[in-house]
Amino acid sequence: MRSVVAVLIANHNELGRTEIEVLSVGVRLAEDLGGTLTAVLLGEPPASFAPSCFSYGVNRVAVAEGPVFSAYQPIAFSAAIKQVIRTIGGDVLLFPSTTSGLELAPLSGHKLGASVVMDAVGVDGKVDGGGIRIHKPVFGGKAQSLLIARKAPVVVALRMRSIAPVAKQENTPGEIIKVPVTVTSPAGTWRLVDRNVEQSEGLRLEDARIVVSGGRGLGGKENFACLEELSRVLGAALGASRAAVDLGWVPSTWQIGQTGKKIAPDLYLAVGISGASQHMVGIAGAKHIVAINKDDKAPIFQMAELGVIEDYREFIPKLIEAVKKRKASATTL
Ligand SMILES: Cc1cc2nc3c(=O)[nH]c(=O)nc-3n(C[C@H](O)[C@H](O)[C@H](O)COP(=O)(O)OP(=O)(O)OC[C@H]3O[C@@H](n4cnc5c(N)ncnc54)[C@H](O)[C@@H]3O)c2cc1C
Repeated sequence: MRSVVAVLIANHNELGRTEIEVLSVGVRLAEDLGGTLTAVLLGEPPASFAPSCFSYGVNRVAVAEGPVFSAYQPIAFSAAIKQVIRTIGGDVLLFPSTTSGLELAPLSGHKLGASVVMDAVGVDGKVDGGGIRIHKPVFGGKAQSLLIARKAPVVVALRMRSIAPVAKQENTPGEIIKVPVTVTSPAGTWRLVDRNVEQSEGLRLEDARIVVSGGRGLGGKENFACLEELSRVLGAALGASRAAVDLGWVPSTWQIGQTGKKIAPDLYLAVGISGASQHMVGIAGAKHIVAINKDDKAPIFQMAELGVIEDYREFIPKLIEAVKKRKASATTL
């Protein structure tokens, strides 16, 4: 196994943290294997996207082009990935665990006859006799499993925010190739009925250093207003538990946890969240967890570094005032 491929959908202008993490795993793995890293970009990437990949150690960028990429369709996209890999080669395919990555990894793996591992937090090539090692949390993050794959191809979907990015290098050269894709969307099997692009303001949850998150304990949609104010003063992004999402209080894109986003901020403030394992698995990579909960027996206090046992309606306004005061005194210094 020598040829590592990072499969990316280039639908925004700049390389984001998600893409950089996949490339970081790819470049380290290629180094272990004494091989190369190719970034496969599906669709037409913006001008700066492909050259930016070289700054993160990519040897070659393959831009897959074809009419199929005009609208996302998982079955057709995975057939397109198979065609690209058959053309350029690839022993280990890395995908991000984004919504589309979670669909495309197993579909492409099936089409390529590959071994597939989802939700990995690390991949390396330190295997005697050849092959790769894949690190994957199990039992809701309570244990780590180590899988060894000796036979190519292997498809790995990487859990985001669990990987330290490699440093950016300036002016690194590389080769860009275009790979024409003739695959078309299969008629009748899958139809795009509607497309809603969520208008998101401010920080992306996945990129934020501070995240303020609310749960069922907030008691209503309108009560998220105080968390919005707190997030503004802290420069934080907003998240939520599944309970808050299921109640329709906040959009599903805010959900953190097993079936939501996995994040690794420096600081995670959980407000009115009990700390169910399915929620905590989404913040396993957080550096510091602070919990605000009125129940001193809430399980979240076992994981939090700092716990505030108080009604959030009392505590959050005081916290907002304290942060504002501190910011004001810092600017007058
Ligand atoms: C297959 C599966 C997948 C799941 N995936 C996810 C997931 O991805 N993410 C996720 O979050 N959950 C997930 N869940 C649901 C999870 O099990 C919990 O039900 C959910 O996380 C609970 O959300 P919560 O903590 O907001 O609500 P609760 O468990 O109801 O906790 C509310 C907390 O608020 C506190 N509280 C109440 N009032 C106040 C107040 N005034 N001030 C301060 N504190 C207060 C209470 O003491 C309580 O601890 C999943 C479940 C399953 C079965």
